[in-house]
Amino acid sequence: MLFHLNKNNSRRIFIRTWSLPSNSVFVGLVGRPRYFEAVRWYARPESHPLQLSVAPRLASWNKADDPDQVRLRKYLDDAEVLLESSKVKGPRALRLDVGLSPERDLLNMADLDNYAYPLACRLKDPSLVSVWCTKGHSEQSFVRVAPAEEVLPPSAGWLVATTSASTSTRAYKEQIRAAVAGAAELPPGPVRLQLSFVVGPQRNWLNLWKQTIDALDPILGRTYPNRDWNPLDGRITELGLHLTVDPAAGIAVKVGIAAGQEGDTAAVQPIEELATQKMLRKNQISVEGRRSLVFRDDDSGYLDWLAAHPDGHVINIPRNHSATAARVHRADCRTINGQNPHKGAWTGPYIKVCAEQLADIQQWAADNVRGAIAPCGTCNPPWAS
Ligand SMILES: [Zn+2]
Repeated sequence: MLFHLNKNNSRRIFIRTWSLPSNSVFVGLVGRPRYFEAVRWYARPESHPLQLSVAPRLASWNKADDPDQVRLRKYLDDAEVLLESSKVKGPRALRLDVGLSPERDLLNMADLDNYAYPLACRLKDPSLVSVWCTKGHSEQSFVRVAPAEEVLPPSAGWLVATTSASTSTRAYKEQIRAAVAGAAELPPGPVRLQLSFVVGPQRNWLNLWKQTIDALDPILGRTYPNRDWNPLDGRITELGLHLTVDPAAGIAVKVGIAAGQEGDTAAVQPIEELATQKMLRKNQISVEGRRSLVFRDDDSGYLDWLAAHPDGHVINIPRNHSATAARVHRADCRTINGQNPHKGAWTGPYIKVCAEQLADIQQWAADNVRGAIAPCGTCNPPWAS
């Protein structure tokens, strides 16, 4: 469902109302909408796994000399030493596979966020943009890090929650819950959950994991019928957590929420492969809110897309999403095709946002850019700036 706001009487801004709880006031929405980076999704690392010699432990809030804490530290020391051998530069993805003994019920307790949290905290790695955790019956447990690889959103469908409340409050959870309230509870059995956070640069996103999962009882089910914030999160057997930092976010948090079950397609399609028309179509049919493709550091993907979509449209925009330096083009405009006259990359300092339909890049601009973007004077697309 969409509603329209008029801005400067000239441009319609589209905001998804289902991302906002109906009983709350979203500060700053009217008049000066908040613009967020789009949520990003990253592939689960499939690089060589490193076997832990000390079994993973859950987060513990006991005092430092408690045996629980001592065992936790021993495991974290082991994991940290193992991961130091992985020389991965740039944005990173971490994966922890927890092996549990055969008599343990995989769908009860052993919450994956409580396994992932202490390890991510220990690593204190600002380049960590994706954290994965799984559990299964095994005598062995593994860790690994790999370069973060951006992928298509999960194809099973996903929702976005946008919160304005302080994240340590009940109001934050209420806003998350309101966003998923209309979704159906997943049938009994294991659940694969991905959460993709867009946050301001000051925020420690690790502290959002538990708060957010606690609010997902509408889709996970409740542990006790009358008790709030106690979802059946033990049945999450695969958890993927992603981060996008957006200076414009302020105190607000945007969360993409994708929950599915065994058999649902995992997000493993590399973004670079989106260039083919077939995949683009699949993307357009199945994915809410992601009808525009953003090409960053991918000139060949961008040029392939142009060749496949001569009737499409392109926003050429600096990485910081500055509207004044951006232009909207027809895909066949000579100023954005062929050899870059400035000898640089097409998708370097300026990224390319591409869509077949003008309305879809309009939507992307409304979601991501502060201010109006002008049409290109060479190709004159039908764009009211
Ligand atoms: Zn043009």
